[in-house]
Amino acid sequence: MTLRQAQGQVDYLIIGQGLSGTWLSWFLARENRSFLIIDKNEPITPSKVSSGVINPVTGRRMVKVWMAEQILSFAHEAYTEIGTFLGITAISQKNLIDFFPNPHQRQVFLERIEEGEEYLHSYPDQNQFYQFFNYELGCGEIRNCYIAHLENLLPAWRQELKKNRRLLEENFEFQNLVIKENSVEYNDIRAEKIIFCDGLSSFENSFFKQLPFAPNKGEALIVEVPGLPAQHIYKKGFTLVPFQEREKFWLGSNYQWNFPHANPTKEFYEQAERHLSGWLKLPFKILDHVSALRPATLERRPFVGLHPHQKNIGILNGMGTKGCSLAPYFANQLAQNLLYKKDIDPLAHINRFQKILSF
Ligand SMILES: Cc1cc2nc3c(=O)[nH]c(=O)nc-3n(C[C@H](O)[C@H](O)[C@H](O)COP(=O)(O)OP(=O)(O)OC[C@H]3O[C@@H](n4cnc5c(N)ncnc54)[C@H](O)[C@@H]3O)c2cc1C
Repeated sequence: MTLRQAQGQVDYLIIGQGLSGTWLSWFLARENRSFLIIDKNEPITPSKVSSGVINPVTGRRMVKVWMAEQILSFAHEAYTEIGTFLGITAISQKNLIDFFPNPHQRQVFLERIEEGEEYLHSYPDQNQFYQFFNYELGCGEIRNCYIAHLENLLPAWRQELKKNRRLLEENFEFQNLVIKENSVEYNDIRAEKIIFCDGLSSFENSFFKQLPFAPNKGEALIVEVPGLPAQHIYKKGFTLVPFQEREKFWLGSNYQWNFPHANPTKEFYEQAERHLSGWLKLPFKILDHVSALRPATLERRPFVGLHPHQKNIGILNGMGTKGCSLAPYFANQLAQNLLYKKDIDPLAHINRFQKILSF
């Protein structure tokens, strides 16, 4: 029997196994629903080049991220649970050491502590990192940060999907999709619903291309730094994030709204290398240079739910710069909505675009 025959009829056909497809399939699997994922296994995707950082504060003003309390604790629990199930480390807690890049940022950080921001703290031993870094303006600490180990999670979940014959590794061809009254058909697969978790590809999908996507390019260097402790995430303009693999760190990123292409650029490479040479006191080696387009949205909120005019078609997308924390939370909301008609947060539900989705 071929995989297609085994999966001929499923409840859900999911397109994409990035963070969004991984989490949606996880929550559907927990509810014993049948599904099939089609993912073309591209070597470079936002989920594969992400640093995995979950930070409770954001922006130059260091304000709490949207729905910090619910989303962060949900993410921690979900990654811990899937990690236990798969026998991998899917998440670890690491505080972020913020080396102030200029007097203004230092002042903002200290003011936010004064205002009582619970995640920001002054660092007791300002000299602790002198043997590793150059920093003239001191440092602060952001607590309750996490690293989602996507380099462990994505391949391990993929392996599990393959083992259970729930993954087709191929390109999904939109023109072969047929929408029926109460189902969808794709080649010889029939499903009750199709859910698009395909990142940038949804920008071109005729059901969702009207949504206000705003792709944002990010690049990063993968570096080896022998002797640098991996207990923290470090930041001074750029962020240095430890991988689980010894001595390996992720260095990035930039946020570009206008870009001629999605490939890594010489400008970023040189800028990041120069920055690290000035910041780090230890020798380092550049191992790789990666780049991808974040599936961001104009109003910085995800796109979640069934199409307001097509009840068999849904989307989980628009995770932007915060996919590691938003994807588990909203994948669960979507699964609960599909199965039990529970509410999706109105700020994330695609019903808010009911009008433009009717064209
Ligand atoms: C440099 C960089 C750093 C980042 N750092 C962080 C961070 O520290 N913390 C954080 O929270 N977020 C971070 N992000 C953002 C985060 O990576 C994204 O929000 C998230 O990965 C989006 O996941 P997704 O599953 O929605 O989309 P994607 O990762 O794009 O996944 C879509 C999947 O669908 C597949 N696909 C698409 N079209 C088809 C098709 N036609 N047929 C078959 N398969 C298809 C793709 O191959 C892919 O596997 C970063 C992003 C970048 C680029």
